[in-house]
Formats: sequence, structure tokens, C-alpha cells
Amino acid sequence: MNLRRTTFSYAVILSCGGISPSHAGAAIEQCGQGGAIPVLGDSLNAALCSQPLGGQVDAQKQAEWAPWTHRPYCAGTKYCVYTNAMFADGGGVSIITTPGNMSRAVGVIEKAFAEPPVATAAPDTALPPPYVVQDVPGKGKGAIATRRIPRGEAFVTDPAAVMGAVDLLERVAGTAGHLLLATAIDQLPDPQRVLALAGSYSAATSVAENVMRTNTFAVSLGGEPYMALFPEISRINHACKPNAHTRFSPRTLAMSAVAIRDIEPGEEISISYAEFGTTYGQRQHALLHNWGFRCTCALCTAPESELLVSDRRRRRMGQIRDGMLGLIEARRFAEAVEAAEEMVRLVVAEGLASHLAEHYEVLARLHMALGDGAQAVRYARLAVADLERFGGPDDEGTLADMREIAGRKG
Ligand SMILES: [Zn+2]
Repeated sequence: MNLRRTTFSYAVILSCGGISPSHAGAAIEQCGQGGAIPVLGDSLNAALCSQPLGGQVDAQKQAEWAPWTHRPYCAGTKYCVYTNAMFADGGGVSIITTPGNMSRAVGVIEKAFAEPPVATAAPDTALPPPYVVQDVPGKGKGAIATRRIPRGEAFVTDPAAVMGAVDLLERVAGTAGHLLLATAIDQLPDPQRVLALAGSYSAATSVAENVMRTNTFAVSLGGEPYMALFPEISRINHACKPNAHTRFSPRTLAMSAVAIRDIEPGEEISISYAEFGTTYGQRQHALLHNWGFRCTCALCTAPESELLVSDRRRRRMGQIRDGMLGLIEARRFAEAVEAAEEMVRLVVAEGLASHLAEHYEVLARLHMALGDGAQAVRYARLAVADLERFGGPDDEGTLADMREIAGRKG
């Protein structure tokens, strides 16, 4: 299945290529070095999952399942539903995964439960809500800005309500899969918050499946790919040249939407559901196939000459992304610098970056690898300035590294 994409990130490339320090550990697990995942918890499966409990749950039992507020429910499959109904001020979250993957991720998740999601580029709470959800001609509902949202502001931070292993709906066809999904949603304090979301997947056999296939984003948690539902952010419509982008924080299990440019009152807020580096034709195909609409955004309705230029840039962005890891692994750092500098020019020209910190970070690290201290310091300073202004809760390690490099004598 195709999921909404979060913004392209260099994190995996950096850590897999070995030019980023260990704090990017989560990404390393995606490099294919981890091999088969030991499924420690599967033997616990039978003990944990008999039948779902209804009605009153006594406090002692609940303590045994901590950090979950419900007994994990497995429907006789290798996947189980884990619910914490107290997460995010009582919004609750259900996570569907194997006991093995849960045992690997539970440390990160417990921290998220202890640390409520907050945007560090926090909007002033005295300001009115940044947008309202209302009817938009031809698109159903959409998010319309109610005030000016300055570039770089994380104007909404939305905790996950449901997360499921990315292959869940393919692997667990039929009744068992639907039971897992239905249980995950039923155990939330307000299931309607999820079930009332739009659905555009015509082959869905339940409302829950339709909502998940239509609205979920691809995210990574504990090195595993998940589809994740953020009820608030899922109301934001697609544009190929959007005015906002999303970033997921495993530390808080929340997705933030960040303004790519200043958004004016009355403007519709948009994010891109399409894969990074895709052309007009590829995007139209994916949007129609996965979300059932033909895109009529400003870029898609622009004159053909403009579209051709955009396609050329985006194709090149995809090529650079795909080639970067190979260049770094082959220690062809000078070529990698050229490619990363070209990427900066392309994302700026395409208007796709809210800020450039991760590009500057890559360039600082590549120059370090090349032994060019002056250039490394220059890019680290740019990264620091950007992160201090726009950074999120997961950027602290990078910021510390960049400050360290920026403080060296070039
Ligand atoms: Zn479009």
C-alpha cells in the first residue's frame, strides 16, 4: 500500500553511510545491517493474549500490562493490539505490531508516554488556533488558515491515535485483521474521532480499513516501518508544491506540521502526500490510485513549460537522494558534496524546504570527512542558526554536534 510520506530526510543516508554519530541510532536499524529481528516476545504471546477483556479492569491487572491500559489483544495472529488510553491527555493510542517488535520499541514508547508532545518551535498559546477545518470546493473538507503562520512555525502537533505495522493489512487479511483494527480503534477513548475521518479506498471492506488506507502516514519507530494515523493532521489536503510539511517525532509519537513559507489568513494549508522526487505524471498516477483524486493544485495546473522545469528538477532530486548513500559508502566525498550542494539549489528552487538545516548538516559532515575544516565550520554554523530557529524535539543531538563543529577553528 502507498502511504502519505513525511518529508525526505537525510537521516538514514547519514547513519548508513557512517558519517553521522550514534545518536541517529534508530536510523541505523534501517540500513539492512540488523538482519532478522529476534522475536523474543512471541513466546509470551500465548500468555498475554487470551480474550480481550470487557468491562471493569482492576488496577493490579493493569499494572501487569504497563505501559498499556488494556490487556494486549492478538486475535490469534502474530500481531497484537497495545493500547494506552491515557496517552496525550486522554486521546489514547493503539499500536498494532508483533510482540517482538513491541519489545524492541517499548523503551522509546514509554518515554513518549512520560513526555507529552510539545512543539519546540511552539506557537504562542495566546494566539488563536492557526486554522479551521471547513468545506473546500471540490475537495470535501480542508484546513484554512485563520491567522498568518510564519515560515518555520510548527503550527500543529498531533499525537498518533493508531499505529500499525506497515504490512498489517496485506499480511492479516480477512476477519483477524479486521478484528485487530476494530479493537485498536474501539479501545481508544473516542473511536469516532478516527472513524469519522474521510475514506477514499473503494476496495475497503470496513470503515476502519478505509480510514487507515486513506489517512495514514509512513513513519519509523524502533527501526520498523509503520502506518500511523494523526486525526488532526490527516485533515490537511494535498498539494504538489505545498505550503507545509510534516515531521514525525518518535520521541513524542506525534506528527507536527511546519510552514514551508509564510501562510496568509484564508489560505488553504497543504502538505504533499506524494513521494519525494516524483514528476507530474508519477504524482497524478499515485494520487488517483491511492487517494482517488486528480490533483489540480497550482503546480499541476501551471503552464506546461513550468511543469517541465519542475519535473526535471524533481527527477534530479530523486536521483541525488538515491545516489547519495552509494557515494558516501564509496567515500567519494567530493562528489557527494557537489550532489548535496545541487540538492540545496533544487529544493530551494522548487520551494520545498521550510528550512535547510539537514542539508547544511550533511555538507558540514561531508567537509569534515574531506578534512576541509573551514567549510565544515561554515556549514555547521548555518545548521546551528537554522536549528536554533526551526528545530524540533528530535534535533537536540544534531544541534549539539553542529555547535561542536561550529565552535572549532576553521
Ligand atoms: Zn498537484
